[in-house]
Amino acid sequence: MRIYRSDDGKAAMIGLDHGGDLYEQLAAGVRDLGLRAGTVQVIGAVSGLTLAYYDQDAREYRNLDFPGHWEIASGIGNVSVRDHQPFVHVHVVASAEDGRAVGGHLVPGCRVFAAEAYVRDLGGEAPIRREDEVTGLAVWG
Ligand code: ZN
Repeated sequence: MRIYRSDDGKAAMIGLDHGGDLYEQLAAGVRDLGLRAGTVQVIGAVSGLTLAYYDQDAREYRNLDFPGHWEIASGIGNVSVRDHQPFVHVHVVASAEDGRAVGGHLVPGCRVFAAEAYVRDLGGEAPIRREDEVTGLAVWG
């Protein structure tokens, strides 16, 4: 993983390693940069795509596995603090060779072919994530 900080130190580009896990590398990059509140963007390509869908009735995530090669057409998310640690939350839309797209909540399980991320430090600390009684999700407080 290669990190290129902006001159003002508030943003960075991260070149992710071929063969590494997409989510784990994003999380490591955010940790290395010391972000506790920020935004994340990522584009690239992966081999094997694992995303999660939140079942609103069951109040649980279900993993969705999409074998093969995928383009990350759009990856966008944020950084906040959960359990006293930086927490990366990214949603991805990915496209297959025929252009069809799938999307969902990024979880570990996507092997990077090539990917580039942009992160921006918003400064300070994002509101602590907490379990929301209505949705069952950890949301910003
Ligand atoms: Zn999500």
